[in-house]
Amino acid sequence: MESLAEDIASLARKRLSPEHVQAMQKIGEEVTFSQGQKIFVLGGPQDYFYQITDGLVDVINPITNVPFSYGRMGKGEFIGEIDFLYGGRAQVDICAATNVRLLRIPRPAMLDLMSKIPELGDDIVSVFAARRRHMIENNLLGMTLLSGETDRNIRRIADFANRNRIPARQIALGSPEAAKLADETGLDPTHPAVILGPEIALQNPTPRQVAAYFGLDVTLSKDRVYDVLIVGGGPAGIAAAVYAGAEGLEALVIEDLAIGGQAGTSSRIENYMGFPTGISGADLCWRGEVQAMKFGTRFAVPRRAKAVSEDADGTFCVTLEDEEQVMARSIVVATGVQYRKLNIDRLEDFEGSGIYYAATDLEARYCGQSEVVVIGGGNSAGQAAMYLSRTARHVHVLIRGTSLASSMSDYLRNRLENDPSITLHTHSQMSACAGDDHLDEVVIRDTEQGTEWTLKTPAVFVMVGAAPNTSWLSGCVALDDKGFVKTGRDVGAASLYGTSHPGIFAVGDVRAGSVKRVASAVGDGSVVISRIWSFLQDLDNR
Ligand SMILES: Cc1cc2nc3c(=O)[nH]c(=O)nc-3n(C[C@H](O)[C@H](O)[C@H](O)COP(=O)(O)OP(=O)(O)OC[C@H]3O[C@@H](n4cnc5c(N)ncnc54)[C@H](O)[C@@H]3O)c2cc1C
Repeated sequence: MESLAEDIASLARKRLSPEHVQAMQKIGEEVTFSQGQKIFVLGGPQDYFYQITDGLVDVINPITNVPFSYGRMGKGEFIGEIDFLYGGRAQVDICAATNVRLLRIPRPAMLDLMSKIPELGDDIVSVFAARRRHMIENNLLGMTLLSGETDRNIRRIADFANRNRIPARQIALGSPEAAKLADETGLDPTHPAVILGPEIALQNPTPRQVAAYFGLDVTLSKDRVYDVLIVGGGPAGIAAAVYAGAEGLEALVIEDLAIGGQAGTSSRIENYMGFPTGISGADLCWRGEVQAMKFGTRFAVPRRAKAVSEDADGTFCVTLEDEEQVMARSIVVATGVQYRKLNIDRLEDFEGSGIYYAATDLEARYCGQSEVVVIGGGNSAGQAAMYLSRTARHVHVLIRGTSLASSMSDYLRNRLENDPSITLHTHSQMSACAGDDHLDEVVIRDTEQGTEWTLKTPAVFVMVGAAPNTSWLSGCVALDDKGFVKTGRDVGAASLYGTSHPGIFAVGDVRAGSVKRVASAVGDGSVVISRIWSFLQDLDNR
């Protein structure tokens, strides 16, 4: 399968060309640090870009306080990681291993130079992205989650970190490693916690606090009016973010859960052009996110839009769940769809601890070598079953009707029908679920035979169709009878993506009549920006 870079380790150490270093010298200054002095402090701001002119620099493991063996950098290399682009805090101490001379450039000036010399920007972004990738793949840095088997809040944080590509490792409470850590950080060893460094530990954090720490969130101000506010960070929203940035529009993406949307939960997208061996949805969306950030588009996660209104001067005001407000001259609705829930007693009790709506590697890890259940007969259910069959002992797929959905692609149907670790149960529905803190067993009803049977399982994946996320639009735009946003000729709009309200556009799965695929969402998101460009020009010419 395609990955971000074939040789992450060597890409992470790529050096800049002499011409690019010369350009940086014009806007930077030389500074010196003596051996042992800290250049970046864990949890501190990353206000500067540093290019090493002479000497050696170490990346320090924040938990053990010992330099990482891979982290020593020398003359010609530069310091930093992807969160430099969006102003995240330093996730490690960076220390001078010898006396060092560095070229120091303030962050705003460096970002400006990267946009003026795209080749320089590309080199730096590739190295930063490779470093983050290296950290995630090798379980380095980021957060340490101290948790019990079933701690729901820590799982929520782990899920948030996983889906937003924040490196995180989990240590079981009660293990000797956990006791040692709790001792080192002064935490109560019997309580779950999120550890960011020796003196930075949060006992019961929210995803928002974690996001703020890692720079995924932005400070919002009602005084700032964006050219375009993109609501929803799935493929459609990300594509709009890339094009908006590239066209020089001031754009902000508001995302409720994780950049990537539904596609971010797909372990393998096989039908996206250009990736003959498939690509993970998370990888594809990560590339788009980095690309958009490179063009200057900002993302705010986790932020949920709650309502939209319009001021007398035509400026839109989107109110978020925490009552903060964002102002914009135009809006792209890219909120996609959300999986339907089942009406079963106690289902909500087990959400996040046995009942799941996505099958990523994180959930797959929770399943261990157990029998698991996937509910649904469509593409998403099929893909989840295929993915889980690699780690689970057996996968039971419950299909309400007589067969898999006719919309399912042939390649997937063949695989499901021929995989010995998957059983397809037609005319079958889950009728009850039980357990204490964690799901333990489910009752399955065969609606044809009128019989019921019980299956011991720690995980059920509910994939039974989806409904559009449009309640936040507050009646501002016309919806069809299923709640999808009507666009184009149906509502008298000049463009295919225009809604019934001028200045509000809709793209991707949330748009009535759209093809519910990654490629079409990306297509919508890419094209809509040219329509927004014309809309804003018309506004300016009035
Ligand atoms: C498991 C799975 C596998 C799939 N496999 C494939 C495949 O192989 N090939 C393919 O072409 N397609 C596949 N799809 C479909 C594809 O992922 C979708 O068509 C695509 O993601 C739609 O993109 P979107 O941006 O329109 O919406 P979404 O991906 O749904 O993204 C919408 C985003 O908006 C956010 N949001 C919602 N409401 C709010 C709010 N009020 N405020 C802020 N943010 C909000 C959501 O959190 C979400 O991140 C798959 C889908 C799933 C679930």
